[in-house]
Amino acid sequence: MKKMTEHFKEISHPSEELFSLIPPLPEKLSLELNNTCNLNCVFCPFHSPYLSKEDQMTLSHMDPAFAKELLKQAAALGIGRKELGLFATGEIFLYQGFDEILRYARDLNAFSYTYLTTNGILATPENIRLAVEAGVDSIRFSINAGNRSDYELLHGKDCFGTVLENLKEASAYIKSLDRELNLSASCVLTKKTLSEEENIRALFSQYVDDIVFIRAGYLDGIDPLLEEEYAVYGEEQQSFDNDDICGYVFNSLFIDSNGIVRLCCSSQKALIPIVDLKKEPDLKKAWEHETLISFRKRLLAGETKGTVCEKCLGRCISR
Ligand code: SF4
Ligand code: SF4
Repeated sequence: MKKMTEHFKEISHPSEELFSLIPPLPEKLSLELNNTCNLNCVFCPFHSPYLSKEDQMTLSHMDPAFAKELLKQAAALGIGRKELGLFATGEIFLYQGFDEILRYARDLNAFSYTYLTTNGILATPENIRLAVEAGVDSIRFSINAGNRSDYELLHGKDCFGTVLENLKEASAYIKSLDRELNLSASCVLTKKTLSEEENIRALFSQYVDDIVFIRAGYLDGIDPLLEEEYAVYGEEQQSFDNDDICGYVFNSLFIDSNGIVRLCCSSQKALIPIVDLKKEPDLKKAWEHETLISFRKRLLAGETKGTVCEKCLGRCISR
């Protein structure tokens, strides 16, 4: 099985023929089951304590019957054939019955790679076992610090010990299985942890098969003070050019936990509503919606100025 980074690279670099105004139905589906989270990471565009009142999320859990309906329709259309993710802006293990949805998706036999990301607090041996037995192919722990005090500062809770213990247990369990399954980690680096990168890598890499570091840049969308205190930029973020096309809107469909198709979930401002599937439950029609077409048009023409895509890391990732 490919490592998560290799898989992610493939999905975020769609083949040339997908770069059109109405590409074939998307290979990747993000069906968010819940947007609730048990942390408040400072840099989180959805749950940061620095968010203004009007930017705070309205919390929701998708009705399981509706989630199944959407999965059934997606499976019939081939949407999500290369990747199905059941999370986006929340913590998946807060969703009661996550394993039932995973099992339902597996039994549809239409999604070749099912993927979960967790902050690890509720990634207990029991929840990991439930996810594995329900057919998950890849689990990512998102841990943004390598020690207790940095963890508490950045995540808003003193849970580093719990998360590390859950990661160790998950690793031992997955290694004992007679099946291939990705266990990876991601870490958002901020000004406070930039110098810790190698220590964090050394600590986590003994448990995971892959680790990815992401720099927390452009936090002014949350709060300018946050930007000053925490933001760090990779070289790629300093040099956007017009040829950078984000692959996302050409091969991925994002449905939030209210059943609304949105542009993407790269930031709070990128949650642009496209279609309410509760009113119009047609995934093909949503994919061909004029708002998505207009974003594809702008990205293809290099005309992203003034839009959420202008300084989005999604464009650099696709290089
Ligand atoms: S764990 Fe993820 S979703 Fe939750 S607050 Fe942190 S970054 Fe946001
Ligand atoms: S906001 Fe970013 S990820 Fe979303 S479509 Fe634009 S460039 Fe892509």
